[in-house]
Amino acid sequence: MKFSVCALALVIAAVVQSTGAAADPVKALIVDGQNNHGAWPKTTFMMKKYLEDTKLFTVDIARTAFTTNGEALLKEFPLEGFDSTPTKPAKTDPNFRPEFAKYDVVISNFGHGAAPWPKETQEALVSYMKSGGGLVIVHAADNSFGDWPEYNEMIGLGGWGGRNEKSGPYVYYNDAGKLVRDTSKGNGGHHGPQRPFSIRIRDNSHPITDGMPAEWLHGKDELYDKLRGPAVNMQVLATAYADPKAGGSGRHEPMLMTLTYGKGRVFHTPMGHADYSQECVGFIVSLQRGTEWAATGKVTQKIPSDFPAADKESSRKF
Ligand code: ZN
Repeated sequence: MKFSVCALALVIAAVVQSTGAAADPVKALIVDGQNNHGAWPKTTFMMKKYLEDTKLFTVDIARTAFTTNGEALLKEFPLEGFDSTPTKPAKTDPNFRPEFAKYDVVISNFGHGAAPWPKETQEALVSYMKSGGGLVIVHAADNSFGDWPEYNEMIGLGGWGGRNEKSGPYVYYNDAGKLVRDTSKGNGGHHGPQRPFSIRIRDNSHPITDGMPAEWLHGKDELYDKLRGPAVNMQVLATAYADPKAGGSGRHEPMLMTLTYGKGRVFHTPMGHADYSQECVGFIVSLQRGTEWAATGKVTQKIPSDFPAADKESSRKF
């Protein structure tokens, strides 16, 4: 009897190990609360689920007490134990002090018009990143905090929020396949009408893009163009052509980017405008792999069989 209990324990231990549940999970924190996109209370839970689906991550959420937009979806996707006070314009929450250091990676679902974080919180993010933290920037998170220099350095490129030639160059690929840093004058951030568009991989040797098809069709989204910023220690892994016929810049705009900031790693995608944009399997997989890379410097996930192709969209209904 004693032996069989022991054997059972061994079997359980083996099963737990083979499912990966016993391995140290990657600790992720999504920060949100102030975004010009009303979908944010839902997209936070979408991203949380996408990360948890990999079985690699545990995901917490830290939210500002003062929120902007998303009131309807806050009721549909409540955060347990959290009360929000909607304000217009956004107001700094003096008690917003996420414990970044407890996490391997921080994902920002903030957006345009977010109020500055308290000074201590800004300093905490900077020191967390300098000492080797991970940061993921999704869509309008690159609109936030235009006048916070360290943040702009972390995200590489941004739009709106007062960004212009003083923020840094426009960065894009030209038709000849050359990466351009364009210092001409003008505002940062623009997009044409939403549509599906092609993602073209520029470097398939990076762990995030390794195994992705050279070109894949992303579901309906805003194609951010004319982003600008310091763009130091930044690598562009994939671009999308912002066709002037579809209201775009005529440039091949960065869509998947990595950066280093101090000892920290940053993954940045301007994709992910709405819930339907984030249902694209290309978005989901980029987020899952980019977040793992930002946290650990590696990617252990395989490309799933339902990944989009050059001429075929693919989405998973949330
Ligand atoms: Zn948007």
